[in-house]
Amino acid sequence: MNRADLHTHTTASDGLHRPSEVVRMAAEAGLAAVAITDHDTVAGIAEAVDAGRRFGIEAVPGVELSTSLDGQDIHILGYYIDFRDSLLLSRLVSQRKARDSRNEGIVARLNELGIGLTMEQVAEAAGRKPGVEETIGRPHIAEALVRIGAAGSVQEAFDRYLAKGRAAYVDPPPRISPLQAFEWIREAGGAAIVAHPGLYGDERLAVRLLESGADGLEAYHSDHTDEQAERFRRLAERYGKMVTGGSDFHGARKGKVYHGQIGNRSVEAGVLERLRSVRGS
Ligand code: AMP
Ligand code: FE
Ligand code: FE
Ligand code: ZN
Repeated sequence: MNRADLHTHTTASDGLHRPSEVVRMAAEAGLAAVAITDHDTVAGIAEAVDAGRRFGIEAVPGVELSTSLDGQDIHILGYYIDFRDSLLLSRLVSQRKARDSRNEGIVARLNELGIGLTMEQVAEAAGRKPGVEETIGRPHIAEALVRIGAAGSVQEAFDRYLAKGRAAYVDPPPRISPLQAFEWIREAGGAAIVAHPGLYGDERLAVRLLESGADGLEAYHSDHTDEQAERFRRLAERYGKMVTGGSDFHGARKGKVYHGQIGNRSVEAGVLERLRSVRGS
């Protein structure tokens, strides 16, 4: 087997396992490579790369940028970015600031609904202090709601309060566009791939993004059907672009796996060669 899972999260964002654990689990699953793609941060990469050496598996540096287009949240994956590039790092700081103010808005909405949650409790549920390099996201707010007894489970917290359109949903402040994300990733030497293009309501969006500079589509994803995977694979190939895939593993809590188990979606490790060389460096 020579497979790569190109989409995973760690404790640097909303995953439940440390970067070194994710890499170890990927090695145990028999994968040849695993990409670490945390939301708006590269804080987990150094540890993952180090663990990759120990476990004899390639840890691909990645990131998943939160962007928006016409009010729709769109995630853009970056691969083989220079994760020490100071321009990229300062850009990620601005992403996290936008995220933090959105999080504060959600907590304020919850307070208005009579739920006495604080940002400190959210940070504690995430296992960190606010304002550090790791990101805080809605899954952490959900976990905090469970801890204070305002929801029975993380899923219930999303369904009642946090999912788009629910009682405490807050639109993120103006986010960068997908085009800006392509540029940031490109300037950091990486390849830019549209994450889970089947989850945005309108599949034509993928065409628009391919035509405006995306290097490829994540056709294989835990939340895509086989038909979607096939459609996006063909679409990317029609444009001469790359086809990637990954589990979007976030870890397991009480036996329940979020999104997908590590390695349940993967691509031939040969794809890495192309991802690495797309910037011609
Ligand atoms: P954020 O980036 O803070 O807006 O949080 C987005 C993350 O929340 C996603 O990457 C998923 O891990 C999780 N998420 C989003 N929507 C749901 C949902 N309806 N149910 C459970 N988890 C969700
Ligand atoms: Fe997530
Ligand atoms: Fe995503
Ligand atoms: Zn993800």
